Amino acid sequence: MNMLTVARPRSLDAISALMSDGRPLHFIAGGTDMLIAGRLRPKDGILVDLGQVAELSGISVVGQHIRIGAATTVARLAEDPVLAARLPALSQAAAECGAVQIRNRATIGGNIAEAAPAADLLPPLWVADARLEIRDHDGSRLVAIADYIASPGRLITAILLPDPDPAPKSGFAKLGSRRELTISKLNLAMLMRQEGGRIVDLRIVAGAIGPRPQRLKLAEAALGGRFLSPKALQLFAKALSDEVDTAIPTRSSRVWKRRAIVGLGYDVIAAMTGHSPRHPLFAGAA
Ligand SMILES: Cc1cc2nc3c(=O)[nH]c(=O)nc-3n(C[C@H](O)[C@H](O)[C@H](O)COP(=O)(O)OP(=O)(O)OC[C@H]3O[C@@H](n4cnc5c(N)ncnc54)[C@H](O)[C@@H]3O)c2cc1C
Repeated sequence: MNMLTVARPRSLDAISALMSDGRPLHFIAGGTDMLIAGRLRPKDGILVDLGQVAELSGISVVGQHIRIGAATTVARLAEDPVLAARLPALSQAAAECGAVQIRNRATIGGNIAEAAPAADLLPPLWVADARLEIRDHDGSRLVAIADYIASPGRLITAILLPDPDPAPKSGFAKLGSRRELTISKLNLAMLMRQEGGRIVDLRIVAGAIGPRPQRLKLAEAALGGRFLSPKALQLFAKALSDEVDTAIPTRSSRVWKRRAIVGLGYDVIAAMTGHSPRHPLFAGAA
């Protein structure tokens, strides 16, 4: 017999009360991952619909942080002017998630908790050093996104992004089998700060080259501390390919991903710095 019941709480306090009930909790937000035909659905416990909890939605600036409620939709992320100005990589990734119908239902919390290797919101959140506000039966705490592991009954209530002034440059690019409505075969986010043209802070994270997003420290080291020049970009390109060789040495997709990642890296740098990807700077991409 199916022992699953459904709850539609209207507040975080009501969810906390369910957490102390002792039965397994399963959260559902937009349902775009959970309700896909063929997925194993929970058979017992309480299915908690997060859609009625106003505290879980919205984007606000709180002190030195941008706070995003976990049930904020991907469509809302894509159109938010604060994010577009402070973390364009996240706006761009959101704008390229699925299609209109998916973006209108899908949530940022669901994208993080599902933790798909190709999830588009994870690389921008990793480069931005996002922290997650987590609530379970033991209370609330903050966890760095790189340390987050989904587990039943652990609710993500919000995502906190540092909000430095001036905002760093950031960007995102993905590659799929179509232009629209396509799951990433490879994606890449970068966050960069320059002083007098020199790159002084650089973080790069790629998705779909392993079970989790990967920070590309070789590529960061190749470009960090330098001025943008054809030579620096050639070193950067080699480092990006080396990262793929190391991450997926035995996968057949390594052959094309080691070249494709260079294209994504160059596209993101061109967009962040206002250059055309056809600028002579990028001519040495081998
Ligand atoms: C046709 C299609 C196209 C898609 N295209 C893309 C794409 O281009 N890029 C991309 O990244 N993804 C894509 N997705 C995947 C999906 O839309 C996203 O991962 C979405 O953000 C999931 O959010 P949701 O609210 O629908 O999650 P749900 O389906 O509601 O939940 C997913 C999982 O997360 C858990 N969960 C949800 N919210 C929370 C929370 N606050 N705290 C803890 N756990 C939680 C649920 O228990 C469940 O295990 C696509 C999906 C479909 C069906």
